[in-house]
Amino acid sequence: GGSVDGVVDVVVIGAGQAGLSAAHHLLRRGVRPAALAAPGERSVVILDAGSGPGGAWRHRWDSLTMATVNGIRELPGMPVVEADPADPANRAVPEYFADFERRFEVPVQRPVRVVRVEDDQETAAQGGTALLRVHALGPDAVPLPPLRTRAILNATGTWTRPFLPATPGAADFRGRQLHTVDYVRAADFAGQRVGIVGGGISALGFLQEIADVAETFWYTRSEPVLEDGPFTQEDGREAVAGVIERVRQGLPVGSVVSNTGLRWTPALRDAQRRGLLERRPMFVRTTPDGVREADGTETGLDTILWATGFRHEVRHLRPLGLHNAAGGIALDGTAVVSDPRIHLLGYGPSASTIGANRAGRAAVTALLAALEREPAVSA
Ligand code: FAD
Repeated sequence: GGSVDGVVDVVVIGAGQAGLSAAHHLLRRGVRPAALAAPGERSVVILDAGSGPGGAWRHRWDSLTMATVNGIRELPGMPVVEADPADPANRAVPEYFADFERRFEVPVQRPVRVVRVEDDQETAAQGGTALLRVHALGPDAVPLPPLRTRAILNATGTWTRPFLPATPGAADFRGRQLHTVDYVRAADFAGQRVGIVGGGISALGFLQEIADVAETFWYTRSEPVLEDGPFTQEDGREAVAGVIERVRQGLPVGSVVSNTGLRWTPALRDAQRRGLLERRPMFVRTTPDGVREADGTETGLDTILWATGFRHEVRHLRPLGLHNAAGGIALDGTAVVSDPRIHLLGYGPSASTIGANRAGRAAVTALLAALEREPAVSA
């Protein structure tokens, strides 16, 4: 990759589904990789913290196969090569993303981790719209020269922000506490007593796998509702509509995937028959040897696996003060209402592979319309 310096029109941060979709639409509409931009041409730099293509899919556990994922939407303009259903998603998806980057010559610079985005003081002092200053670390965490840009399409996902609810006594527990991000394989839990926390699709998957080798205890805040029949487009629209409304109001949001509800599968029916889906109300505290249940029972556990979801990774944007008093960031489409130089992709309603695709296109359309009023920075 090239060096991170100079001034560009747009920086895409993150090259998962959302960032690659955005990059594709930018390139298709004539925005040039900064290293190749001639004077007067719009320019883009694409930065990604990963050591290779695939976004967060690089990090999924091996038993999450193309058959067991929720459903992955292809990237724009490139059909998925028929994947073997038994292929782990952590191999098949990165290979597909790598093909995409090659085919469309998407110049992703990696590993480059953006650590801070702030107003550029020089241009801020001149009045008008300030440029943004992007601070990043390159290979071996070596700081790169800051980059200045008119706009940012932020597509940094959630994988780096695992969420664990605060629990009384959590620090006293002498066993292991893991999160979804730490899960490698069920065999690591062989012979243990394992508490699995969470009412989502990840928790259900872990229960089924771990119960084969260990004694499981399933904790959820509320009774999970599993529905019959396939997941329809109408269900998808409903889940997305709810999140769009929250984002419009500037309320904090989880991912769409966490709002789509759960469906019975043959494997889950089987798990139910085996008595694995006996859910316990969320425990009230963690003790040195396990947990204290809502009814006062002390349950010994070796490991607590928190399948309690993620938050959006936007910590590097903190200096811009985008969060409101409610703790959310209000969006108009993908643009931050209080600072339209910033677009959030894969955020709220677009935190799914289908949403990420759409957000990439929508953000590019909105951004190019806004830039229309200003000359290209490479002029
Ligand atoms: P990511 O794929 O997370 O990509 C973000 C990229 O940004 C990464 O490459 C990361 O390295 C980079 N990055 C992060 N921080 C920085 C930084 N500071 N500087 C530079 N780069 C940075 N959705 C579906 O539609 N179908 C499914 O089957 C499905 N299964 C899922 C299973 C699991 C276990 C999880 C956790 C989520 C699943 N999702 C699924 C949701 C999924 O995460 C999204 O659909 C989508 O893949 C997210 O794409 P993204 O581009 O927003 O984020």
